[in-house]
Amino acid sequence: MAGNQPYQAGRHFLQIPGPTNVPDRILRAIDGATIDHRGPGFERLGHRVLDGIKPIFQTTDPVVIYPASGTGAWEAALVNTLSPGDRVLMAETGQFASLWHALAERLGLDVVFLRGDWRHGVRAEEIAQALEQDKNSRIKAVCCVHNETSTGITSDIAAVRKAMDDAGHPALLMVDTISSLASIDYRHDEWGVDVTIGGSQKGLMLPPGLGFNAVGAKALAASDTAAMTRSYWDWGPMLTANKGGAFPYTPATNLLYGLDEALTMLGEEGLVNVFHRHARLAEAARLAVAAWGLETVAQNEGEMSNSLTAVMLPDGHNADDFRATVLERFNMSLGNGLGRLAGKVFRIGHLGDFNELMLAGTLSGVEMGLAAANIPHNRGGVQAALDYLSPN
Ligand SMILES: *Cc1c(COP(=O)(O)O)cnc(C)c1O
Repeated sequence: MAGNQPYQAGRHFLQIPGPTNVPDRILRAIDGATIDHRGPGFERLGHRVLDGIKPIFQTTDPVVIYPASGTGAWEAALVNTLSPGDRVLMAETGQFASLWHALAERLGLDVVFLRGDWRHGVRAEEIAQALEQDKNSRIKAVCCVHNETSTGITSDIAAVRKAMDDAGHPALLMVDTISSLASIDYRHDEWGVDVTIGGSQKGLMLPPGLGFNAVGAKALAASDTAAMTRSYWDWGPMLTANKGGAFPYTPATNLLYGLDEALTMLGEEGLVNVFHRHARLAEAARLAVAAWGLETVAQNEGEMSNSLTAVMLPDGHNADDFRATVLERFNMSLGNGLGRLAGKVFRIGHLGDFNELMLAGTLSGVEMGLAAANIPHNRGGVQAALDYLSPN
């Protein structure tokens, strides 16, 4: 690894909640020669990934794949469906919801931001209330983050859908699943989501660089009259080209090789097993945190994320100093606290290509790091996790 650090033996532990560890199979797949994206070989690849990605969103709707980070896919969802000045309802679950909110405002949307304390998920009853008060249907879209990566909190999207249905409100529902896709059960069709936003570098186990929009029929119809300026993000030319397995501009060909392999791997394991593996490893991580006597950012038992755990340090201890110690001593990267949680919180990523021994190593690095950084805690977190994973 390049940089000013001296060589550190062994494999680096990349335990941030994205980008995640890219499995060797995917690295090997990406390592192919770049081909003519307008040639016959590409067409087969294009069809395969465009079809194969749908079950990951649990949808039969088309999924647009951009050469972009998740932020681009956020923007795409908004500019394809809305018009300047449209009112949008968003819920402040944490830093990612706040960034999406800021992006929407910069685009000229009129955002109603339901304030939150960054320790809870979306409150469906507040969505219901806002929609019931919106007698003239001025709100055109409800936007939620399914798994808030800054706090380690997963929101109940089915409950948001129900609130919208109960209010009989016609707004579109748009959901960011960037850190839950292929890690935590997410159902685009069943939950009646109109646009689902995804990214490549988290549960999909790929490097950064692909952004996704799963596009429902109602969202597609809205795009016919949506008046926001769009060109690169326009769904229209994408969906037309995609019918022939092609893209309107140069796709990220080698990342699509990787996606093809990732879809094969997820198919081999089975999506249900993928969710179960994440749930089990996440529970073990939470048991470790509890045994250390530390607190998670998430306060509701039922909202604890299965893709990452955000942990608060006791007052007077800096989480970034702790992370620096862990990196220097144990060659492991942990996620930093974001926004208002900066310096107060570290985040353990346990998503993507991840197993029991990787979790055991990760938790060992945290436990040794807590000792090395003189942070008050109880020993035994690793043991608590192992006892859960391997009873008797
Ligand atoms: C990572 C992430 C993003 C941002 O994605 P980028 O690829 O960094 O643009 C947005 N939302 C959530 C929930 C994320 O976890």
